[in-house]
Amino acid sequence: MNEVKTIKSYSFLVNGEWKNSSSEKKIEIESPSSEDRVGEVQAMTEHEVNTAVTGAKEAQQHWARKSFDERAQLLYSWAEQLLQMKDELAETIMKEVGKGLASAEKEVVRTADFIKYTAEEGKRLHGELINGGSFNAGSANKFALVNRNPIGVVLAISPFNYPVNLSAAKIAPALIGGNAVVFKPATQGAISGTLMIKALDKAGLPSGLVNLVTGKGSEIGDHLITHPLIDLINFTGGSNTGKSISQKASMIPVILELGGKDPAIVLNDADLDKAAADIVSGGFSYSGQRCTAIKRILAQDKTADALVAKIAEKMEGLKVGAPEDSADVTPLINSKAADYVTGLIEDATEKGATIVKGNKRSGNLIHPTLLDGVTKDMDIAWEEPFGPVIPVIRVKNVDEAIQIANESEYGLQASIFTKNMEQAIQIGNELEVGSVQINGKTERGPDHFPFLGVKSSGVGVQGIRRSIESMTREKVTVLNMTQV
Ligand code: NAP
Repeated sequence: MNEVKTIKSYSFLVNGEWKNSSSEKKIEIESPSSEDRVGEVQAMTEHEVNTAVTGAKEAQQHWARKSFDERAQLLYSWAEQLLQMKDELAETIMKEVGKGLASAEKEVVRTADFIKYTAEEGKRLHGELINGGSFNAGSANKFALVNRNPIGVVLAISPFNYPVNLSAAKIAPALIGGNAVVFKPATQGAISGTLMIKALDKAGLPSGLVNLVTGKGSEIGDHLITHPLIDLINFTGGSNTGKSISQKASMIPVILELGGKDPAIVLNDADLDKAAADIVSGGFSYSGQRCTAIKRILAQDKTADALVAKIAEKMEGLKVGAPEDSADVTPLINSKAADYVTGLIEDATEKGATIVKGNKRSGNLIHPTLLDGVTKDMDIAWEEPFGPVIPVIRVKNVDEAIQIANESEYGLQASIFTKNMEQAIQIGNELEVGSVQINGKTERGPDHFPFLGVKSSGVGVQGIRRSIESMTREKVTVLNMTQV
């Protein structure tokens, strides 16, 4: 007799109650690395979404009156609960998005650290007093009290690749700033997101302050982002989704963290061993499914052969396989993503690129691939693969490297490898990106550094302090003193 496996069903949280949808529709979440079904989440109706948003609006009025210290206490407690659920959360992240177990554990610990730091930073948030007399003598009796106020209800939409960290990175700063949150996790990532909210609920979350909405972005997304009670949208995901959200949101402020095509610019005088090691870990960890992964190498002709050889050698050290074995390169999130990467490799080889290493595929597992001789007519030179493939584009000189780096529609981060600091800073100034890493791989964090993308890589600034500032607004109260 065939055994019928039951599948674990997860509810949504709205106004303090864990519920199943009246739609009776569920979305099954399959593991990207095995045939297993991880569980199912609710496909919420528009009516349920409305209840979530209106409930958050009401909860926000009470929360805004709490002191920073009271808000911080909730965050400390949340961080503690997350750590208590570390094993369950890490295993869920591993199964749901195919991340190596060790990295999934790190994600949970990093998130707890993030939340605690946010609580501390929020407590140090203060305004300023400006005297009108600095502008002209006639205004000397005026004093502006400038304070930071909450914005209201923040809609937090997160991507699949860091389902806990990138969600908490929106929710915690929003809460410390006095906002309520409607949180919509990526569907593949919604179970990890749900467990994270369970931890917050156990920590003493006031009813309605964070409402968890599950359902496909393609079905409930438009309704959410155009809801009149949403005061700010904080989104992380693909550039096309982000652009469409920003158009539809009209006057609603948005913070967008989008895609990237981060270059590693390697100059002739670079420490090639260091550059190769950073490129391999920056490009291939979690199979390249990171916004700040190194996604192209701009190598100076003279040293390119040596660099490529060193990268290929270091790629031998990458562990390829199952998330359970903490592999660096694991199956991609779904077959569409894997097909896309395969298509980019095929396009490049048809147009003359050489495969130095890799280009093996079994199911959604693509072995780390290094392509040399990539030219500007190939799609891989410009597209974000979000997979384990790095193209090497050879350049004659620094000017050509800068020109190709800036030709990209993206502008998240860039790495420059050289021993000449002065030149590195000059090149960095020319690059159209949010952050430049000198002699290091591109990466997000430490989490209190400002983090931003330009061009198609984003709008607005994050990073703990900046995130709190981005999700609060200045309020100016002018005291007109009677002149004596
Ligand atoms: P995605 O497909 O754009 O999805 C991101 C989120 O948007 C998901 O929650 C998705 O929900 C939701 N969504 C989809 N359509 C929507 C709509 N019409 N309205 C509202 N929400 C909608 O991105 P992804 O594949 O999860 O993530 C990969 C991308 O994120 C990459 O491009 C990567 O570079 C970028 N990323 C950027 C950063 C950064 O900090 N700059 C960090 C991480 C990732 P469903 O899952 O239900 O479709």
